[in-house]
Amino acid sequence: MVLVLNNSPPAEGKGARAPDVAFKPTLAGMSRERMRAALAAAGVPEKQLRMRVIQLWRWLYINGATSFDQMTDVSKELRTALEARYTLDRPEIVAEQVSVDGTRKWLLRLPKLGHEARAPEIEAVYIPEADRGTLCISSQVGCTLTCSFCHTGTQRLVRNLEASEIVGQILLARDRIGDWPGAKRPVMPEACFQHDDGLLPNTDRKITNVVLMGMGEPLYNFDNVREAMDIASDGEGLSLSKRRITLSTSGVVPEIARWGELSGTMLAISLHAVRDELRDELVPINKKYPIKELLDACRTYPGASNAKRITFEYVMLKGVNDSLADAKALVRLLAGIPAKINLIPFNPWPGSKYECSDWETIERFAEVVNKAGYASPVRTPRGRDILAACGQLRSESVRLRARERAPGSAASAEPGA
Ligand code: SAH
Ligand code: SF4
Repeated sequence: MVLVLNNSPPAEGKGARAPDVAFKPTLAGMSRERMRAALAAAGVPEKQLRMRVIQLWRWLYINGATSFDQMTDVSKELRTALEARYTLDRPEIVAEQVSVDGTRKWLLRLPKLGHEARAPEIEAVYIPEADRGTLCISSQVGCTLTCSFCHTGTQRLVRNLEASEIVGQILLARDRIGDWPGAKRPVMPEACFQHDDGLLPNTDRKITNVVLMGMGEPLYNFDNVREAMDIASDGEGLSLSKRRITLSTSGVVPEIARWGELSGTMLAISLHAVRDELRDELVPINKKYPIKELLDACRTYPGASNAKRITFEYVMLKGVNDSLADAKALVRLLAGIPAKINLIPFNPWPGSKYECSDWETIERFAEVVNKAGYASPVRTPRGRDILAACGQLRSESVRLRARERAPGSAASAEPGA
């Protein structure tokens, strides 16, 4: 069953902010440094800053506070001062869909940045499983890359997400699934009560893992993604172990080692082909950084070991990359790398030109890989009915052409992919 919740539409056309509402930034998703500066700007004396940051940090990242009133150990006066300048807003939910398998997809609206005429939209997906709950988050609105089998790849890059917008996806998901201490049941907007409560899992499943596998190429938004993952893994706050955070890249080779050194999360590589000729077509960044260079970067990924393996993602495309010869070549190619192989059945999207391999073909392919000693779980497609599965995410946000932007505005960030 699909449940769609629509918040009230913005006042003027899609994504517009009512002109009389002064924009207040959110503290939710800020790093300690940014929070400190925000508190100083609200008049907190220098000698209190450290203590106030500790308080706010706990309220935001341990308790999941969504209102200043909840902060009972912060004086009323300071709460009022903070409320005058800031919010605790998360990205705004435009729609929430719940798949028959419990997967949830949120279409989220972000605040407009200075030059933007429209508020951009992104998607995030929560996938509950028996032993874990995985949250798949976006790092960019759209993508500069154009992998031929990926729906996001058909949407031009609109902009990079701010660090707080990346963290905001985690906060929002925890709000929605009741994943904060003391939360008894999912927090639901009124519209939801018209529907069957049973749709929302009444279990104690929590977000145990975060994967940067939503919209965008995270290594092209390196600094913001790094700041966000530092906040997510902070032991005094959200406390997600870096071993439970996975960054997936299409193969931005020069950034891989740097990511390993500076952030140190788990790594997944979107390989998808064993020959450069085919990978050039499927994952065009391969023309810039071919397979050999990519695998060399994996061999030397800081911290990679048999206990901390790199995941190689391989989408199964019927008649394209799914032969037994491909399977054997894959095994040869990865020799010497501490690897896991994740076979992903292709998830179709409107207008896609590929088909998913037959189940038998996938099983035979997996057998070759298993025999070579790799655990190669075939990723069960989740949330296909709501287009929430890998590579199906896409929002309607468009990047405005220069002449459509306000005069004198800065251009959107677009890394030289
Ligand atoms: N840009 C990053 C992360 C986002 S894509 C990257 O490419 O790695 C997350 C994963 O979904 C990637 O492995 C991607 O190749 C895969 N994917 C994209 N489209 C898909 C589709 N239609 N079916 C199955 N997997 C897909
Ligand atoms: Fe971008 Fe990843 Fe999709 Fe390629 S697979 S277009 S890098 S989101």
